[in-house]
Amino acid sequence: MSQEGSYWAIESLPLEQLRALQDQRLAQMLDRIYEYIPFYRKMFDEAGIQPGDIKGIRDLHKLPFTHKSDLRDNYPFKMFAVPQDQIARIHASSGTTGKPTVVGYTKGDLDIFDEVVARSLVAAGAKPGMKLHNAYGYGLFTGGLGMHGGATKLGMAVIPVSGGMTDRQLMILQDFRPEVICCTPSYAQTLAAECHRRGINPASLNVKYAVLGAEPWTEAIRQQVEDGLKVTATNIYGLSEIIGPGVSQEDFEERGTGSYIWEDHFYPEVVDKETGKPLPYGEEGVLVFTTITKEASPLLRYWTNDICSIYYDPNAKRTHIKMSAIKGRADDMLIIRGVNLFYTQVEEVIEKMDFLSPNYRLIVTRENTLDEVEVQVEVKPGVDPYNEALSQQLQSRIRGTIGLGMKISLMQAGMVPRSEGGKLKRVIDQRKL
Ligand code: ADP
Repeated sequence: MSQEGSYWAIESLPLEQLRALQDQRLAQMLDRIYEYIPFYRKMFDEAGIQPGDIKGIRDLHKLPFTHKSDLRDNYPFKMFAVPQDQIARIHASSGTTGKPTVVGYTKGDLDIFDEVVARSLVAAGAKPGMKLHNAYGYGLFTGGLGMHGGATKLGMAVIPVSGGMTDRQLMILQDFRPEVICCTPSYAQTLAAECHRRGINPASLNVKYAVLGAEPWTEAIRQQVEDGLKVTATNIYGLSEIIGPGVSQEDFEERGTGSYIWEDHFYPEVVDKETGKPLPYGEEGVLVFTTITKEASPLLRYWTNDICSIYYDPNAKRTHIKMSAIKGRADDMLIIRGVNLFYTQVEEVIEKMDFLSPNYRLIVTRENTLDEVEVQVEVKPGVDPYNEALSQQLQSRIRGTIGLGMKISLMQAGMVPRSEGGKLKRVIDQRKL
């Protein structure tokens, strides 16, 4: 069977067989995490549950959730379920503080990562032999390397362009003639706008498919990208805690009906934001995942904080469940140019600068297609808020620790506007999607 054929076999598995597979994989996963991860052993013991008490997916709701804070408390490697010498790669994404959330991959995990990204690319319209223009950032984030591995596995040629440098991106699109591009939806909008500005006819490019993710987007953005680049654009979703991109993917012929979750690897639930109770299919709540095949960093009922619904689509090609577009977050995480940002990360930097008071807020805007963050922060009494050197110091400290450029506005005491009741609202997100 061809590789695509074998993907099809799993993706069209009848639901009862899929459930049996999930039950069997879950049982193995529970045994492993109980044996190798002290955090989970304690969690089970405190709940008075043995792994064997969970008879299958249907019993998952009896178990507690895992939160990002649990990963932070076990930083960096205490949630790993294998010895260090079996770790083949380590990725990280933003945590709520200066310390990132760390995930490990064994060779087997990297195979799964490649497989789910390859399956996602197939669903997006890609085929072996095509070229992928990979404009996700390479580095600690999972986007760049994740897409790279999956495309290689599928038999595509990867052009590892990484993010930014729009001139170079356009040159490569024109000269190397890739059929597929992957990047954030807002960057695809930037590329479309630049083509228009420079008089490049998008039809003269060879790009047919765009695989867009890492930040929320809408049907209106899809329309702009499809018209502006003459592509078929689909959604790819993922988070590093679960594996990276390729947790779910929209089919290019079923656009707008949701993204297939590769539930033979990642079992999804949607639960009530307040009570944590599982919700019926179709209702919106917090998306929760259990990784049932991962070796190094398995997670039980991981609370993603992403808001969406899940449902089986009777008209779908595949038997796997679908998720709606992400409607928002249940926490304070912002996504700035595809990079996660918690305001508490900025707060930590501010606290360490002795000329600043703790009174600050972040104003987030989207200028054309580019997200901008302005940090408004009050200086301590006696400090000159017009001192350029001080703003630059804060700006470079933020860039150095968080990796994002931000506009700095230093202000005198009392000048950062308070909302009703005198409280400082830390984040004003003025972006309209
Ligand atoms: P990466 O390392 O790929 O940047 P992260 O783990 O840092 O991934 O970020 C994952 C988060 O990004 C998700 O929890 C979600 O909030 C957001 N995200 C990723 N893909 C999408 C998407 N297609 N639509 C909406 N939000 C997305």
